[in-house]
Amino acid sequence: MHATTPPTVAVDAAIIGGGIAGAWALKLLLAKGYNAILLEADRLGSAQTLASQGMIHGGLKYALAGNVTGASEAIAQMPQRWRACLANQDDVPLAGTRLLSEHYYMFAERTALGRLTTFFASKTLRGRIDKLAREQWPESFAGFNGVVYTLNDFVLDTADLITQLTLGHEQRIFKLQADAATLSQINGGYQVKLLDTTVHVRQLISCAGNGSEALLRQLQIHDIEVQQRPLKQVIVKPQHAVPMFAHCLTGITSNEPRLTITSHSTRDGMIWYLGGQLATKGVARSDTEQIQAAKTELQTCVPWLDWQRAEYSLLSISRAEPKQASALKPDQAFVKRVGNFVQCFPTKLTLAPDMGDRLLAVLDPPSACDVLHTQHPIATLGSAPW
Ligand SMILES: Cc1cc2nc3c(=O)[nH]c(=O)nc-3n(C[C@H](O)[C@H](O)[C@H](O)COP(=O)(O)OP(=O)(O)OC[C@H]3O[C@@H](n4cnc5c(N)ncnc54)[C@H](O)[C@@H]3O)c2cc1C
Repeated sequence: MHATTPPTVAVDAAIIGGGIAGAWALKLLLAKGYNAILLEADRLGSAQTLASQGMIHGGLKYALAGNVTGASEAIAQMPQRWRACLANQDDVPLAGTRLLSEHYYMFAERTALGRLTTFFASKTLRGRIDKLAREQWPESFAGFNGVVYTLNDFVLDTADLITQLTLGHEQRIFKLQADAATLSQINGGYQVKLLDTTVHVRQLISCAGNGSEALLRQLQIHDIEVQQRPLKQVIVKPQHAVPMFAHCLTGITSNEPRLTITSHSTRDGMIWYLGGQLATKGVARSDTEQIQAAKTELQTCVPWLDWQRAEYSLLSISRAEPKQASALKPDQAFVKRVGNFVQCFPTKLTLAPDMGDRLLAVLDPPSACDVLHTQHPIATLGSAPW
């Protein structure tokens, strides 16, 4: 007699959404002995994660009011935690993940920082920020007149990060939109319909980012609310080939860096990806106004490089987060369990390890050992928007 695939199998956890939150949760839960699967509607990373700037940061950019706040302290340990992952000294080993830059900088014209100069030199920030002597400046600042600091931050290649997190687990990662047709609630747990198999899920974990609100509505979970914080990022293709990984603080008028700059390779060369105040304020500008604003900002903040024949494009995207009073940014990862449903928002790429800790703390221990054999299509890696 042939052994046949059972039509129904049980798993400890089904994770919905294959961005950083879902990919991190999958790797962590498998390491801890959970029988877990991941369901992704589109392509892995294709929403916020591959559109992010990839910065792993200690939150210093939230301390630009000149003091250390809850928000800046909650993530201060994260660069160190990620370095442990990159050295395979954590439950989520990530050795070999490609870094786009080992350093992240802050710069401003010499007279522009006022009392921040004293704050940056204070004991409170020791080990998190260092002023560089001119001979220590990276090449991208050749021609600049001002101050350059190095932060305890670095920049990851987010596509490679998702690849490293999911490598070897492809048979547990399915292309499936979790909705009323595929996901239902059954006696204390959930049921997911794959192409040829029904999966009984003990704990359902939503890492669905911008798709979370619809899931919460579908499952009638009313005590978790979601907020969106939109950005209008700018993608610049310059004529020069100088990469930059830095916040610009020249003449800042608020507590947010004027420009947050990362550089990324494309098939046609390198692009600069611009966030910071330009992107948050840009939401209120038309596309034409936003491109004009980007041109002005680059000319003002980085005048030593040539912007004459640069090409510009825009990316409008929303960050999905737990609702905060006054729509402010959340300062830590969010994990909340309601019955056998768990909602996760890392709230920042950087806070994925914090999210993982909180997730393990609310889950029941693993118990399902069924083996899932299915022909259901697997979800593959998405690509960055540039
Ligand atoms: C422009 C930008 C720049 C950023 N830069 C940084 C940075 O430099 N550093 C930092 O720390 N943070 C940064 N962030 C924040 C960071 O990117 C996000 O906090 C993080 O990527 C969120 O990850 P996620 O997995 O929760 O969501 P997402 O990456 O959005 O993933 C959610 C996934 O769920 C899937 N999905 C949704 N609904 C369903 C469904 N019903 N069924 C199945 N799948 C579903 C989606 O297709 C998607 O793949 C940035 C964000 C933006 C927008």
